[in-house]
Formats: sequence, structure tokens, C-alpha cells
Amino acid sequence: MTFEDLGLTEKVLSAVKEAGYDAPTPIQAGAIPAVLAGRDVLGLAQTGTGKTAAFTMPILCRLETGRARARMPRTLILEPTRELAAQVADSIRKYGVNHKISMALLIGGVSFDEQDKLLTRGVDVLIATPGRLIDHFERGRVLLSGIEVFVIDEADRMLDMGFIPDIERICGLLPPRRQTLFFSATMPPEIDRLVHKFLNAPERVEVSPPSTTAATVEQRIAPGGAGDPKSKRAALRREIDASENLKNAIVFCNRKRDVDIVFRSLKRHGYSVGALHGDMDQRARMAMLDDFRDGNVPLLVASDVAARGLDIPEVSHVFNYDVPSHAEDYVHRIGRTGRAGRTGHTIMLVTPSDAKWLAAIEKLTGQTFDKTALESDAETGDGAAADTKEVPAKSPARNRRSKRGRRDDSREAREDRQPGDNRRAETGERAPRDRKTPPKQVAFRDTDYVPAFLLRPARVKEET
Ligand code: AMP
Repeated sequence: MTFEDLGLTEKVLSAVKEAGYDAPTPIQAGAIPAVLAGRDVLGLAQTGTGKTAAFTMPILCRLETGRARARMPRTLILEPTRELAAQVADSIRKYGVNHKISMALLIGGVSFDEQDKLLTRGVDVLIATPGRLIDHFERGRVLLSGIEVFVIDEADRMLDMGFIPDIERICGLLPPRRQTLFFSATMPPEIDRLVHKFLNAPERVEVSPPSTTAATVEQRIAPGGAGDPKSKRAALRREIDASENLKNAIVFCNRKRDVDIVFRSLKRHGYSVGALHGDMDQRARMAMLDDFRDGNVPLLVASDVAARGLDIPEVSHVFNYDVPSHAEDYVHRIGRTGRAGRTGHTIMLVTPSDAKWLAAIEKLTGQTFDKTALESDAETGDGAAADTKEVPAKSPARNRRSKRGRRDDSREAREDRQPGDNRRAETGERAPRDRKTPPKQVAFRDTDYVPAFLLRPARVKEET
């Protein structure tokens, strides 16, 4: 199958050539002919499968005829986040280099007046996050009755972010005679309900999520400390410092809160590091990504939500500060390294309570991690915690260790302390035991080999 077989126009085909693509991806091969034929499409695909081109390319073909009218955009593309919206805009520019496309972005962090001026003149493509769009609609700044093609991208993320009522409202403002393209990585019942309500006999194109990891990625697990955040952060520093040929790396955390804590900790310890999380404003996020891309900041701490769908460049290392609780996220995270036949490295910190998630990753990817490092750590009773000792600053990600960094070690130790610890230290009182949660025996599922480290009883600590 070639791009020429899909029925795209000369203008788009020439842009595809310029982009250097050899062949359409499965989602493109399935969706493009259906969109060009005017059909509704239900695309079950994740980011990274080429799905943005699967809808932007045929939309560009369609826009070659007709004209936009003032305040009445012809195409509406809804995205859950500002980054994804900005990436779709980049995609329209890239595949539309030979078109004269007018486009507006209704997303946070982008000047309202400028977008409003564009809308007044008339735009072919309007890319928006649901809240912003409704805001503009309520102010009478945009009319949705001229929409010819409506795209809902990343619908399951919209659901996670609570956007479904907004989407239902927006659908009610669109003309009934329109083409709807709907993309989602998963189909929970809420999403299925939307599909039945708003799509008309859609062509279903499904691309299975990736479950295999590239052979070019060297994958390793390492002990993640004795179960407390401080020794886990020390374990991370040790792994970063011990990594040879580290050019740039992403450190993935499961929680937004930990992104911030790990970022500040690495910074205090003299690393050149940035963070990417959902609370940053648009400009800060884009500036952060640019710095990372340009190599000014070689380490980036991120959460899955902040990183998903972003066109993050090739990295030499991926550190999993946390074992992801969804096995697919592991595949997605490590897919950032070892691209295009190059060698990549990934190191995941594992603590005793991670056994269940680790087993799920092994099951999904069909591989078994070498757990020797965890076992020897358990035998010595170190829990990698003994690791408060200094490691030579040989990593390019690490600046010379500053006086401030040393001073901040003690501050970090203070931050790790729980409320009440000071008083207890003074009075000699013992910390209360968690009586609600009985000691939990963790064990591996689906594997015969159970390292001693993972059979140690682990006390489950409640989230604060
Ligand atoms: P997406 O899933 O839309 O986020 O696309 C992921 C990446 O794949 C983007 O960097 C695109 O530039 C790239 N891409 C899209 N289609 C193709 C293709 N047919 N061949 C090679 N790369 C592609």
C-alpha cells in the first residue's frame, strides 16, 4: 500500500513526499479512504500510530474546494489538551504546506484577541479544547452551524478529564449533516454511548495497542530503595550517575505530585533538569520541551498524562521512577528511546510493593526481567537506601555539585519527615502503627520465579 493508493490530492501527496514518509501506517491506510468518501470514522488508535495524519490529510483534501465564512469555521477539531491541539496545528501546517489554509486555535495560553481576529475573517480549521470553545460560543464569537467535518480526538482522555458533558453540548450545536471522525485508544461504555449517539454508520478502523518493546532497548530493573521517598530519590540519582553514554533522559513518575518532588530534588542535587506536568501554563510547557529538544536541559521529569501524545525527540535513556500501574504505559514510556534502530536504555526502579505491576508488564511484553539486582539488595538489607553516599558527578546531566545542593540535603530530609515526627522525637513517643492495613504478602503472578526480595512482607502506606 502506498500513499498514492489512498486517493489523496496532488497537494497532499507532495507534502507527504516532503515529510519523507515511505508508506501509510495501518490507521492511515484504513481511515483516509473512508474520510475521503465522506463517511463517519471510528478510529481505535493511540498516539504514535500516525492517527493525526489519518484525519488531517483527508481533511486538507476536502478543504481544497469551498471557502470559509466569517465566524463560521468549516472544520472543528477537539483536543483534550493544549499540547495536542498545538501538535495538530503543526500537522496541518506540515501536510498543508501547499494549501492556503486559514486556521485558529482556541486554547489556553494563546492570545484571545488574535484568534478572535482570525475567526472574524473566517477559518477553514478551528482547533480547540472543549472549555475554550464553549467560552467563545457563549460570547457569540463563533458559530458552529457551518461545520462540515467534526473531529473528536483522544475521546477516552476527554472522558478522564471530565469533558464529556461539554462534548455532548458541542455536538448539539453542530449541523446534523456533517462528517464526524472519532478517535479513542480505548472504548469504555461512556465512549461507546457517545459513538452510538453521534456517529452515523461509522467505518471502524482498529489498530492494536503496542505490546512489544523494541529489541534495540536495553531494559533493566533496579532496587528502588527501602520503601521511603528519600531512598527512592537516592536510588534514582545513583542510576542516573551510573548510566554510561547518557545524552538525555526522561524520568517518568506515576503521579503529578511526584513529578514536582523529583524535579526539585534533582535540581537541588545539581542536575540540569526540567519538569513537564499538567499544571504548567502553555508557554512554560512549550519552552520546556524546546529546551529539552535543543539539549539545554538533558533531564526531563514527566508524568504519562503530560508526556502522552507529545512529539518528544529521541532520548538515550528512560528512567521509570515508578513502575507504571498500566502495563501499556511501560511500552509507551520506553518507546521514547531506541528509535530508528539506535540503542536505547531504560532503567525501572522497583520496590517490594510493585510486584503486581511488574508481573503485568512481563505478561504484556512477554519478557522476564533479570531480578538479580533486587535479590542481592534484599539480602544485604540495603534497600538501596544506604545510598546516601556520594557518587562521582560524571553524568552530563549533573552539574558540579553545588554548596546549595549539599545544604539542601538536610532540607530534603526535613521534607521527608511526616507531620508529628518532630514532636514524637522530642517526647520519645513511637510512631503509631497503621492498624487498618494488615501486613500484606506480595507475590508474583504468572511467573515461576519469585525472588526473596519480593516475598518480604510489605506494609502498605496510606496516601497522604
Ligand atoms: P501521531 O500518532 O499522529 O502522533 O504520529 C506520530 C508520529 O509519526 C509523528 O511524528 C508523525 O510525523 C509520524 N508519522 C505519521 N505518519 C507517518 C508515516 N506514514 N510514516 C512515518 N512517520 C509517520
